[in-house]
Amino acid sequence: MPENARATHLDAVRERNLASVLGAVAHHQPVTRARLAELTGLTKTTVTGQVAVLERLRLVVGADPVRVGGRGRPGAPVSLAPGPVAGLGLEVNGQYLAACVLDMTGAVRARATVAGDNRGRRPDATVAALADLAGRIAAEAAASGLDIVGTAVALPGVLVEDRVNAPNLGWDAVPAADLLTAALPVQPFGVTVDNEANFGALGELWYGAGQGAGSYLYLSGETGVGAGIVVGGKLFRGAHGAAGELGHVVVDPDGRPCRCGGAGCLEQVAGLDALLRTAGIPDASGTAAAGLAELERRLAEGDPAALQAAAAAGAGLAIALTGAVNLLDPDTVVLGGIHARLAPWLVPTVEAAVARSGSRLRGRTPAVRAASLGTESAVRGAAGTAIARIFADPGALA
Ligand SMILES: [Zn+2]
Repeated sequence: MPENARATHLDAVRERNLASVLGAVAHHQPVTRARLAELTGLTKTTVTGQVAVLERLRLVVGADPVRVGGRGRPGAPVSLAPGPVAGLGLEVNGQYLAACVLDMTGAVRARATVAGDNRGRRPDATVAALADLAGRIAAEAAASGLDIVGTAVALPGVLVEDRVNAPNLGWDAVPAADLLTAALPVQPFGVTVDNEANFGALGELWYGAGQGAGSYLYLSGETGVGAGIVVGGKLFRGAHGAAGELGHVVVDPDGRPCRCGGAGCLEQVAGLDALLRTAGIPDASGTAAAGLAELERRLAEGDPAALQAAAAAGAGLAIALTGAVNLLDPDTVVLGGIHARLAPWLVPTVEAAVARSGSRLRGRTPAVRAASLGTESAVRGAAGTAIARIFADPGALA
């Protein structure tokens, strides 16, 4: 092997070892170097060297000594450092902007939401407002001794070759990652952009109702309806990154025309605008958040039009999700966004349909439940993704 190829190979091995030791610390903390050597299959000398690097990068710290089996000389274990290294999650929603800072242990250290209508707002104006929010929350994090090293941004759109199409925001081929990279301070891990349903699925998988699920389906209900698909613990993105556009699955071939070019799409019965329209709640009466609150109030009172809207949404969701369940065989379906808020009126219908369809084929029925992080699923998943990038390549902090 030529000298420089050999050096590159050794660097790659060292980087892999560093990530593997950091991952083992995360899963087994507090953990001694001797135990880390057993867990990773590396020599004790290598582990000691890598732990020293991780300590220098401020990713792990010494924990209180533990006695293995309660006797003998206590080992000197290490744990993940609850700072200063931190990741930032941001979200652009039709009705709000959100931000969330996580430290390496996955703890939420700062969060903020700014209400406001982002639909039809100029993309550069939305990006500027998001950068402003990011700056404020980074300053708040810095005051608690945290240093943000990477950012991930959840958008209600589809990424096509680094450009974002988000019809519900009025975005057409917007270079969101480039705009945000230019607007935010330089960070070792830079800016990652992805669909909000994908981040929502990861948020619920890591911190919410999807925990422990190997393959599961996360439904994100907003103005649009999207799905995040997790297969074997990883996101399934499809050939072009557009997998999970469940909102444009046809649930009524004779239904309303949809802005995607089709007709009778799920979004036309189960999206927020459709629900408010059927319930007779004018969007103009206030913000969409107020519209949703009004819908919940009318549902609780048993208002017939509101109940009809929820029934139509439930029936549409039942058709689309039955198809998805038969295609993907997930162990759990998690309803997020507005559908988490409307879960009492939607879950029974969806659960019954999913249980009925294919019941003679499948051994067991997937559980249907509401997201447990509420409207925070996507921003938490985004922040978690920023942290996951550090775990995958901690050497990049050097
Ligand atoms: Zn459509």
